[in-house]
Amino acid sequence: MESSTSKLASLVSHSLKAIARSTMAAEREIVVIGGGIIGCCSAYYLTRHPSYDPSRHKITILEATEIAGGASGKAGGLIALWAYPSNIVPLSYKLHAELAKEHNGEQRWGYRQVNCGQLVAKGRVISEKQKESGSDASSISLQKRDAAAVGKLRAAGIPSDLDWVVPDGLRAYESMSGPGETAQVHPYLFTTSIAKLAEEKGAKIVLGKATDIGQGPDGVKSVTYIDKATGESNTIPATDVVVAAGPWTRSVLPQISISATRAHSVVIRPTRPVSAYTLFTNIELPGGKAIVSPEIYARPDNTVYACGEGDRIVPLPSSTEGVQVDQSRCQDIIDAVGSISDELRLGEVITRQACYLPNVDARGGGPLIGFTGVKGLYLAAGHTCWGIQNAPGTGKLISEFVFEGAAKSAKIPTLDPQRYL
Ligand SMILES: Cc1cc2nc3c(=O)[nH]c(=O)nc-3n(C[C@H](O)[C@H](O)[C@H](O)COP(=O)(O)OP(=O)(O)OC[C@H]3O[C@@H](n4cnc5c(N)ncnc54)[C@H](O)[C@@H]3O)c2cc1C
Repeated sequence: MESSTSKLASLVSHSLKAIARSTMAAEREIVVIGGGIIGCCSAYYLTRHPSYDPSRHKITILEATEIAGGASGKAGGLIALWAYPSNIVPLSYKLHAELAKEHNGEQRWGYRQVNCGQLVAKGRVISEKQKESGSDASSISLQKRDAAAVGKLRAAGIPSDLDWVVPDGLRAYESMSGPGETAQVHPYLFTTSIAKLAEEKGAKIVLGKATDIGQGPDGVKSVTYIDKATGESNTIPATDVVVAAGPWTRSVLPQISISATRAHSVVIRPTRPVSAYTLFTNIELPGGKAIVSPEIYARPDNTVYACGEGDRIVPLPSSTEGVQVDQSRCQDIIDAVGSISDELRLGEVITRQACYLPNVDARGGGPLIGFTGVKGLYLAAGHTCWGIQNAPGTGKLISEFVFEGAAKSAKIPTLDPQRYL
């Protein structure tokens, strides 16, 4: 009896090993739909997974317009240990640091530690004459700080190196993080670099818009897309499909409840290099018109990024190329940040842009990462305002779902797409 049990156990073990071997040995055609930061990080970590073998595994990033053409190229780039959701933030924050170290991210995509604080201020009125001449007699330039200006800054609790906000009207400053808890990247440079690094290990970038994910009784089998250059419809075989289409996810998976919010931003070259601060502001506009909350991020390339609040006035266009930029919304951001900083008010506005944020319309708030219930079909989308922060973690987890059948680096049952289907 004992010997027949052990024979059976050995048989089962051999069969399992054989199945595992055949799965490992099988050819895989992995298609990642979307060349934003989530799709590019997914491709990157797929090419770095220990089971990845370029002779048997084909990885394609299928991008409708251009790599980082959406929010991933137009975001602020803040990464923070205090972001959400807490089950992937520490992993992703750590991976950002590792990527920067391994690939010289400091030079390549502006990775650096940064201060972060909440600033409350009353914006100053800037007269037309002052705008034209560039001089502002009603404010005290911090470059020539006198005792009165220094006193005002101290009273508001402003760190001494945050010397590019005017003291007039400053109400309060509160640090939002300690050392080592907040960093930043330049999102466009990060995303395009990561795509290149994935390409270097064998991933292929195809420009075309996915129109259909073909399914058979055994799960996914193909992806059909319209080629960007030729306009022709092509179908490529697929054993695995990762949908990372951000706010456009519903156009390929209508059952997934992800919506889109437009947000405007500007990039300004200040009159002089400014210290490394990211600021969440509350600015009372001159004349008490309204309180606005632009986020202001100094970048290492001597530019400052600022974004305003979102809107749902213009629905999501069919692609990143159709995004409408409302110049007056950009101007509102420029005026608001200029009302608290001479360096920004007198600086050169180099970019006015808009993009769409992917929101998960369900309790929990997303992102959604993992299996969809169809064999070989995975979702990595709905990263709201923390997609830059959470992209490396998401990519790593997707590589584990594809090659190991489960998330290994973090416990993410709350992000399971099947909970929301
Ligand atoms: C103003 C603003 C500031 C932000 N600041 C920060 C920040 O400081 N820190 C942070 O962590 N996050 C920030 N975010 C959030 C972050 O930008 C997003 O969460 C992230 O970029 C989402 O990445 P994604 O790859 O999912 O989507 P996207 O960047 O939108 O990429 C999706 C890609 O899929 C492609 N696509 C769509 N449909 C198809 C199809 N059918 N076939 C092929 N390709 C398709 C699109 O062309 C696009 O390139 C900010 C967002 C905004 C709007």
